Amino acid sequence: MKRIIPSSSIIIVVQSSFLLLLLLFSLTPTTSAHFFPNISSIPKSLIPNKTSWDAFNQFLGCHTGQKVDGLAKLKQYFQRFGYINTSLLNFTDDFDDYLGTALKTYQRNFNLNETGELDAPTLQHITRPRCGNPDIVNGTTSMNSGKVANANSLRPHTVAHYSFFPGMPRWPAGKTDLTYAFLPENQVEDVVRRVFANAFDRWSEVTTLNFTETASFSLADIKIGIFSGDHGDGEPFDGVLGTLAHAFSPPSGRLHLDGDENWVIDGDFLSAPSLASAVDLESVAVHEIGHLLGLGHSSVGEAIMYPSIGSATRKVELTKDDIQGIQMLYGSNPNFNWSTTLTPSNERDSNGSWGLKSSRILLIAGLFLLPIILL
Ligand SMILES: [Zn+2]
Ligand SMILES: [Zn+2]
Repeated sequence: MKRIIPSSSIIIVVQSSFLLLLLLFSLTPTTSAHFFPNISSIPKSLIPNKTSWDAFNQFLGCHTGQKVDGLAKLKQYFQRFGYINTSLLNFTDDFDDYLGTALKTYQRNFNLNETGELDAPTLQHITRPRCGNPDIVNGTTSMNSGKVANANSLRPHTVAHYSFFPGMPRWPAGKTDLTYAFLPENQVEDVVRRVFANAFDRWSEVTTLNFTETASFSLADIKIGIFSGDHGDGEPFDGVLGTLAHAFSPPSGRLHLDGDENWVIDGDFLSAPSLASAVDLESVAVHEIGHLLGLGHSSVGEAIMYPSIGSATRKVELTKDDIQGIQMLYGSNPNFNWSTTLTPSNERDSNGSWGLKSSRILLIAGLFLLPIILL
């Protein structure tokens, strides 16, 4: 006898399956991270014409008292990075005191002339890709604006510019062996792991800390994840360029990379320095590990802990400023030696330019494209 299934049951089963699928998809927003072996392997389709911050260039020459469409967005930018310390959500398009004060503080932090105007050098810095961590945390100034100027110093630029998070959080004194792991869903390939191992080495070479990769993401001290857009920690990523990554102060251990960037494994940009969207993975990894260990942003242009980085730029060597800052927190590696560590490029103090020299560029041959599906 043929069994007849009521049509209502079929509808319920189909509806349930559909709802289950819908639930699964809603719980697993997918994205793919773009890792490339070198700059020439980035497909043209992934290279944007412009990024959201490029729109700020229209404000060239703006100054106090003016009202220009879109200035509210620039105030949101300054609020995001700590320069406007208010919980206000709606800003006006007026060039008011909020913006004027923020601008001057920003200019001081980035070694620019404190004009209080949106001049070309300032806009060039504002539109540069950068770390998502704020320069000023909870109104507590760091970088240049938080330092007491020493008028009597003959070499004021030799004053240390490194900074810490408020309260100087660090990993506990007895905990010198830290483990790190990658979010399993990112399915990170070995070449990416090697870049991070190299980046961690740079910090362990100058401190008492050791870093070891572990398979257990949940038990690892440091958790590295690649995400796109809003990923649940209140610090959404913004697509290509803009903010590149962020990391939390100790002992949080969370380090997040923006999955929409075009990450380059071998950051030899000399062959194509004009490709604006390529970001050197190790350069950003070294910077974010600095945050994981307790360093804030520095005003020294060459320092790893400087907040922004030019795209298609490789900058991986710790400078004197970075080393002095991290050794304040953890002491020195017994094998560390200033004279063998510092090179002419990383010994310099602040002059606002970027060091491009690298003695340890990873040489990785072959085309490598890793699509990564996130939960
Ligand atoms: Zn940063
Ligand atoms: Zn995050």
